[in-house]
Amino acid sequence: MNLCFLLGDQLNLSISSLSNIDAEKDVIFMCEVWDEATYVQHHKKKIAFIFSAMRHFADELRAQGYNVHYTKLDDPENAGSFYSELKRADEQYKPKSIIATEASEYRVLEDMKDWSFDAPVDIRPDDRFLCTHYEFAEWAEGRKQLRMEYFYREMRRKYNILMDGDKPEGGEWNYDSENRKPPKDALNIPQTYMSQPDDITREVMDLVADRFPDHFGDLEPFHFAVTREQAVQALDQFIKERLCNFGDYQDAMVEGEPWMYHSHLSFYINCGLLLPLECVQAAEEAYRDGKSPLNAVEGFIRQIIGWREYVRGIYWLKMPEYESENFLDAKRKLPALFWGGDTQMNCMRQCVKETKENAYAHHIQRLMVLGNFALIAGLDPDEVNEWYMIVYADAYQWVELPNVTGMILFADGGVLGSKPYSASGAYINKMSDYCKGCRYKVTKKKGPDACPFNYLYWDFLIRNEDKLRGNHRLGMIYRTLERMSEKKVEAVIEDSRRFFKALENDEKV
Ligand SMILES: Cc1cc2nc3c(=O)[nH]c(=O)nc-3n(C[C@H](O)[C@H](O)[C@H](O)COP(=O)(O)OP(=O)(O)OC[C@H]3O[C@@H](n4cnc5c(N)ncnc54)[C@H](O)[C@@H]3O)c2cc1C
Ligand code: SF4
Repeated sequence: MNLCFLLGDQLNLSISSLSNIDAEKDVIFMCEVWDEATYVQHHKKKIAFIFSAMRHFADELRAQGYNVHYTKLDDPENAGSFYSELKRADEQYKPKSIIATEASEYRVLEDMKDWSFDAPVDIRPDDRFLCTHYEFAEWAEGRKQLRMEYFYREMRRKYNILMDGDKPEGGEWNYDSENRKPPKDALNIPQTYMSQPDDITREVMDLVADRFPDHFGDLEPFHFAVTREQAVQALDQFIKERLCNFGDYQDAMVEGEPWMYHSHLSFYINCGLLLPLECVQAAEEAYRDGKSPLNAVEGFIRQIIGWREYVRGIYWLKMPEYESENFLDAKRKLPALFWGGDTQMNCMRQCVKETKENAYAHHIQRLMVLGNFALIAGLDPDEVNEWYMIVYADAYQWVELPNVTGMILFADGGVLGSKPYSASGAYINKMSDYCKGCRYKVTKKKGPDACPFNYLYWDFLIRNEDKLRGNHRLGMIYRTLERMSEKKVEAVIEDSRRFFKALENDEKV
């Protein structure tokens, strides 16, 4: 017999480790281990989600006639790590071979490569992704810049998605310019998919409450899909109810509306309950059936076959060095407000609050509020990466690290993005309704009442001038800075100093 090892983010029957399984003889091996649950202090909801989805998947496999060996976190014999658990299983079953699909994270894959058991280990590629490591490396080879847009076009052609012969559907590859509508007053946003916890989920929630009481985040209410069937319902609901507005309001933020028109599918795609291609094809079908407009469908598809595959490609191309990149030499400690500490900045307060409640924030909150602040305040990439790994239920290093180190912090010096995504309060004011409930004035540029994003934005450019001035996309901004009066520049520096001092002293900012 063979032992087929399944990780918690490999919950799909089509996974390569199960490709030629003998249902009668082989044993599928799954385990909840302490090392993985605690290598960072994951959000309580994230742990509950993954363990519950694993337990449900194990039950589904059993119901389909497979032999499953499952170790729960609180099994008295649980040895605490993948290796030590597999060692026990190797001794118990004496398999002909141990078959695994490569881990999605560098750290775990390196560990896998060192595994040594009596049985040989067969590590297979993860074919749920649409671009292999080899294909991405080949695409990247010899290119001066690795821009997502060109990669995305190749993926569209390769999978024949939204194509009209060899031309892009509608004549353009990208309809992003139509996808930047500010939120209107009365948006009628449909509810996101919500399941009710069953006995298995309740048992896991009790375990999480008992074992991880100090971890960040609210455990209740818990509404994630935890089975394939539920995840498919979540996908259908998105396609029917929200996809049509996904494009228009993709960048919009509204107080008290954490879900907006986003899909909330990353949790399920990343752990295997959904496959990326089925999500993309469902969206394309909605367009072909006239149920969703092209700007929305193209925008959604670009996120999945473009951004998602692209960041994974960058991750494997650049690891392990990518993990310690700090191009801007940012060193500031992550302030308490990221953990729910009191702040007067309404945009930060809302985004952290929703993150704590839902283990979710949508892309623009992650990028243009939380990420923008981390960038212009010069927060240490290690601390920022750890925070993003902890707080989101869809966080795995392959996707979190490039988004943080590359997209928000520009810590890779421009591998992923051609310029830093820094913005003043005007952007947040345009794309959200946060500013009207804020103690700071978004229109004020200096002094204690001014929006901190306004002076930190210029202070960031001043602080990093030697590294950023040569960036041709920032040329105009640096020319504006040159024209700024000395008095204005002094005010920016003074306001920023005051703000940073208050942060360092744990004062409420
Ligand atoms: C600083 C930062 C950290 C992030 N960390 C993560 C993370 O840990 N895990 C994660 O899955 N995504 C991460 N993202 C990307 C993106 O924000 C989330 O995928 C998205 O918010 C998930 O919500 P959704 O399913 O509603 O996405 P939607 O807005 O509905 O988008 C559809 C799908 O596209 C994919 N997608 C969209 N943008 C990206 C992107 N930039 N990178 C990779 N996939 C993308 C996701 O699979 C997502 O489900 C991060 C982005 C930023 C800026
Ligand atoms: S005024 Fe500034 S700090 Fe306040 S919500 Fe607006 S952008 Fe955020």
